[in-house]
Amino acid sequence: MLTQKQFDGVVAFHGHLCPGLAFGMRVGEWAIEQFGCAEDEEVVAVVETDMCSVDAIQFLLGCTFGKGNFIFLDYGKNAYSFFRRNDGKNARLMTRGGLVTDLREEQNKLAPDDTEARHQIQHKMIDRIMDAKFEDIFTITPAQIAMPETARIHNSIRCGNCGEQVMATRIEEINGNRLCIPCRKKLL
Ligand SMILES: [Zn+2]
Ligand SMILES: [Zn+2]
Repeated sequence: MLTQKQFDGVVAFHGHLCPGLAFGMRVGEWAIEQFGCAEDEEVVAVVETDMCSVDAIQFLLGCTFGKGNFIFLDYGKNAYSFFRRNDGKNARLMTRGGLVTDLREEQNKLAPDDTEARHQIQHKMIDRIMDAKFEDIFTITPAQIAMPETARIHNSIRCGNCGEQVMATRIEEINGNRLCIPCRKKLL
């Protein structure tokens, strides 16, 4: 179970409490139990969505974009993988869906200006997500990708077109010209 302090911290970090965030809190709760928190890149999270839920994971696990142990794959899937560096332990959580489908349908029937009823349904969704058993919320399988490499500092190279400094791994040589990604896109 998350502590009240963790719960309040997540809501403050995200800015509001919503069903998506509640879902992320359950994913984070499971991941903390299984993997512990990320101290100095110990735990890596790979998320396949950029919805509300990922804020809970960043806050609870300490996996952040800037530390390089939070990786976003733009697949539009409600799926979250975790890796622990010291022993290679890993898992992928994929939403089962359907947990709040009936409430969502109820919500869709409401008039757009019926904010009070909307609010009540949102609360029902959040309660249901927070009270559900893990196995009713998501499936748990081994990760489907290899553990991401450790974040490294790369040299910078000047793009031959725009002249801006670019991480060496993002430069590609085309017809003898070393180009950054946006410049390559313009030329191709
Ligand atoms: Zn939200
Ligand atoms: Zn460029």
